[in-house]
Amino acid sequence: MSTVQDFSGYPPTWCPGCGNWGIGAAVKTALVQLGHNPSSILAVFGIGCSGNTNDFLNAYAIHSLHGRAIPTAVGMKLANHKMSVLAIVGDGDCYGEGGNHFIHACRGNHNITVIVHDNCVYGLTTGQVAPTAQKGFKSKSTPSGIIEIPVTPLGLAIVEGATFVAQGFTGNVSHLTELIKKGIVHKGFSLINVLQPCVSFNKINTFSYYKERAYQLADDYNFQDIHVALEKALEPTLADKFPLGVIYQSERTTFDDSLPQLKEKTLLEKERFLNYDKILEDFV
Ligand code: SF4
Repeated sequence: MSTVQDFSGYPPTWCPGCGNWGIGAAVKTALVQLGHNPSSILAVFGIGCSGNTNDFLNAYAIHSLHGRAIPTAVGMKLANHKMSVLAIVGDGDCYGEGGNHFIHACRGNHNITVIVHDNCVYGLTTGQVAPTAQKGFKSKSTPSGIIEIPVTPLGLAIVEGATFVAQGFTGNVSHLTELIKKGIVHKGFSLINVLQPCVSFNKINTFSYYKERAYQLADDYNFQDIHVALEKALEPTLADKFPLGVIYQSERTTFDDSLPQLKEKTLLEKERFLNYDKILEDFV
């Protein structure tokens, strides 16, 4: 059985007190508790402080381009659909640069798990405003306050067809670990949006800000009711409250299960796909 140490790469370089530490711990603990080892996971990262996890997590991994982690994860899953695939990204990377990919991965119900470090800023580039920031948020890139209203990630995911939508808080690592485990086990597109204070460049959405406003869903909350789920998903925007837990879950055939080509073997196991000379011959 693997340990957290087995999944540990280089020591993280995140700022002291950053919410990323809790997410890093939760991801590794979830993988251990699910019985994974560094060879049974494919991980892909976007660009940003979240993307630097590429160096801190020991697993098969790709550090992709800004906003392109999700299509890379989709490609990895289609190449070897027997592997669990994680995309670990930031809110700017996923809902900004990669917003189009996010929508279409939800529609396709691609069987990947997307974990979003949601801190409302571009931390790696010193705090420009990102898509989940509230209207009026002042930053280096918006000195008079951002004009647009924020993206609503939970609602967007549900409306576009994601079959597992959850929200966690990096201030509660054990709860977050359970959500990540559920997301990885879920068959279909899973989103875990994680409220992650950037202690260096976001002085509004702090740990105490979320502690005052975030709450865990009740045990009898019905996460299969899409109408109830949409109401919960809109609470951050409409009620300044942040529900934590599985907001919505449903069943729908995944993209890879819809492809007859993948019924018996993965693409990687097919001789044709290992014969690069033949592929070149076919296409040139
Ligand atoms: Fe965390 Fe912000 Fe520092 Fe990045 S800049 S490591 S998000 S505190």
